[in-house]
Amino acid sequence: MHLSRFPRLHFAHLPTPLEPMERLSELLGGPRLWIKRDDCTGLAGGGNKTRKLEFLMAAAVADKADTIITQGATQSNHARQTAAIAAKLGMHCHILLEDRTGSADVEYNYNGNVLLDQLYDAPLKKYPAGTDMNAAMDELAAALKSAGRKPYIIPGGGSNPIGALGYVNAALELLYQSNAMGLQVDHVVHATGSAGTQAGLVAGLAGANSGIAVLGVGVRVAQEIQENNVFKLARATADYLGLAEVVKREQVVADCGYVGKGYGIPAESTIEAIELLARTEGILLDPVYSGKGMAGLIGMIRQGHFKASENIVFVHTGGAQALFGYRDAFDFPAYQ
Ligand SMILES: *Cc1c(COP(=O)(O)O)cnc(C)c1O
Repeated sequence: MHLSRFPRLHFAHLPTPLEPMERLSELLGGPRLWIKRDDCTGLAGGGNKTRKLEFLMAAAVADKADTIITQGATQSNHARQTAAIAAKLGMHCHILLEDRTGSADVEYNYNGNVLLDQLYDAPLKKYPAGTDMNAAMDELAAALKSAGRKPYIIPGGGSNPIGALGYVNAALELLYQSNAMGLQVDHVVHATGSAGTQAGLVAGLAGANSGIAVLGVGVRVAQEIQENNVFKLARATADYLGLAEVVKREQVVADCGYVGKGYGIPAESTIEAIELLARTEGILLDPVYSGKGMAGLIGMIRQGHFKASENIVFVHTGGAQALFGYRDAFDFPAYQ
């Protein structure tokens, strides 16, 4: 596996730190918890989409694109990071937002990531939940082409084999870091949505024959659908790397018991996890992804899923910028 064979732009702040979470480990009574700070990738406040965009934007540049089209939910972190790198590269960026929650809250619709999308001067357009977003992007691309532009479509979450290379790279980075520290990693845990992060990690860690198990915590759909999405993309990513067959179905595991009422709606356990990480480690999680991912990790620890001696790495995929769109989800008292 040699990632330098693939076109890539270098703008992420890498390697991201791998740090112990001592107070949280102690509070939960083991295992040994570590955090891989992919919320600190540098671009637009950071997050997991930046790693994917290093490969995706290189493909767009190779294609001589002058305009990026992408899509996501209203508080999409992917949209924010894409708008930022498009601005830096002097490209236009059109963002199609699917209104998956139907929230009428002004903070949700205009603060957080949406405020930042607008700061990056990306035109936004809202679509009702359930819209065929890929068809909507194709339609916009056709209109822009007839207006003389050269659009490049990045799928939701940047999740295709090109984008997933960003997380193959993260897998190799984690192996290098843990080798250098003499740290034996047993499990990697993170929030999984559009599947590119988990697919890249699984392809990279399996391709390197690392023996490290990856556990996704779902934020949207049921387990079987999520695992199938991840497996399909992990296979396609491995194929793209010339490692066909390296990914086995049983290496793809997602726990979708922490979704709550649905995508973008924090559950009680999500809020508990966000508050706990803030108060024990000073770390900011988000209400859509990393808060649910951490709720999953905490839940599994409480159920005795891990041995006390094991080392667990939580990949912090970012998203804290969305907190400002979710003030309503927290029940803080008024002050005088
Ligand atoms: C997109 C996102 C995820 C999920 O990553 P996928 O590659 O879409 O599965 C997790 N956390 C945050 C903060 C995200 O923005």
